[in-house]
Amino acid sequence: MLTCGKLLGTVHHILKKIKITEIFSSIQGESSHAGKRCVFVRLTGCNLRCGYCDTAYAFHGGESFTIEEIVTKVVDYGVPLVEITGGEPLMQKNCPDLAKALLDAGLQVMIETNGSYNVNVLPDEVIKIVDVKAPSSGEGDSFIMDILTQIDAKDELKFVIGSREDYLWAKAFVEEHILIDTTTDCWITPPA
Ligand code: SF4
Repeated sequence: MLTCGKLLGTVHHILKKIKITEIFSSIQGESSHAGKRCVFVRLTGCNLRCGYCDTAYAFHGGESFTIEEIVTKVVDYGVPLVEITGGEPLMQKNCPDLAKALLDAGLQVMIETNGSYNVNVLPDEVIKIVDVKAPSSGEGDSFIMDILTQIDAKDELKFVIGSREDYLWAKAFVEEHILIDTTTDCWITPPA
């Protein structure tokens, strides 16, 4: 049973606001979940400026919604999988509370993040798809190496490569950090 204090805490969480660029339903196109129906919640703002970015429209603007309003919109689609994306969703401090509220609504929750924010602020159950930015992105030094200790078998790393040099760099990264011996999937993909 919820105590009065816990109830007030829950109400406080769902009334927190997050700036949103768009919420829509589509088919997952990346990661091992490709092909599944998914609701995408695109948060506004990004701290990086990758040369191949196709979502620059999410850098600015957006509209503020409470977490409760966002969860209601997502649940209304009737789709069991939701992905929090951006921009860079972890730029907004209330993002972990949004992830928790979506889990509490009974949804499977994924996040796509650019590798420049620690992911251990998120609930364990969230599936983390983490970019490792290659040199030709122009943001090659942005990855936080500690993230390698914050992910597990359900999570995935993604290398977007724009050249053979990027491919060799990604291969060396995987070999150097012995990711081959872990159960975390690594994806090497061209820019969209
Ligand atoms: S991290 Fe993503 S949203 Fe941000 S600039 Fe790079 S590709 Fe665009």
